[in-house]
Amino acid sequence: MRILMIAPPGAGKGTQGALIAAHFNIPHIATGELLRDHVARQTALGQAVQAYLDRGELVPDQIVLDMTREAIIAAKAAGGGYVLDGIPRNMEQARAAYEIGSELGMTADVALHLQADDAELTRRLLARAALEHRSDDTAEVIAQRLALYHEVTAPIIAWYRDRGILVSVDAMRSAPEVGREILADLEAMRPSLDHPPAQERLPLDMISLGEAFGATGSSR
Ligand code: ADP
Repeated sequence: MRILMIAPPGAGKGTQGALIAAHFNIPHIATGELLRDHVARQTALGQAVQAYLDRGELVPDQIVLDMTREAIIAAKAAGGGYVLDGIPRNMEQARAAYEIGSELGMTADVALHLQADDAELTRRLLARAALEHRSDDTAEVIAQRLALYHEVTAPIIAWYRDRGILVSVDAMRSAPEVGREILADLEAMRPSLDHPPAQERLPLDMISLGEAFGATGSSR
């Protein structure tokens, strides 16, 4: 099972990603966690990305794409499944993730979208701020992360719907309830993933992806 998750901050990507990974026994690749780990260890990469994380901005695409490629290569060696949490976050990353997946024979079977409204997400993130001490869980930075999600991340959902791999789940409920629905939905898809084979799915239309974002027609 190969899953990518698209969800606003606070929707429960991390929690549900871990649940999915444990249930299907597949690696959980969380870009935010990987980046925060670099910051905590003060690696060169961590020093380069810290300011982006603190401001709630996206780190440069190439950094997360390199991390993702490496993690997908490891996932392939580990059995072929994965749950990607935190990427793609914009059109360029969606294209690149697909290209990396195609090249490695590891494209996603499911795009899992968790839905929740901004008021609820803000409430959850502020509650989390009191417990954990993430530098980006302040009212101002939360607002920035939500705005960025609506502007550059949410528009890629339609692309996965067109490809026929989108699963949308209402994430306004408790974590266990959301988790049960996700696992039921994914379990229901499992037979159809084995057959028909992935190659019979609709090919991705790179041109329409670009048009959807008003791109200028470059094919990168
Ligand atoms: P959240 O979804 O709550 O913002 P994450 O842990 O997924 O939490 O991401 C935290 C931060 O890590 C983001 O605000 C961003 O700065 C950085 N980040 C994570 N994934 C990506 C990505 N795919 N592209 C660019 N930046 C990323």
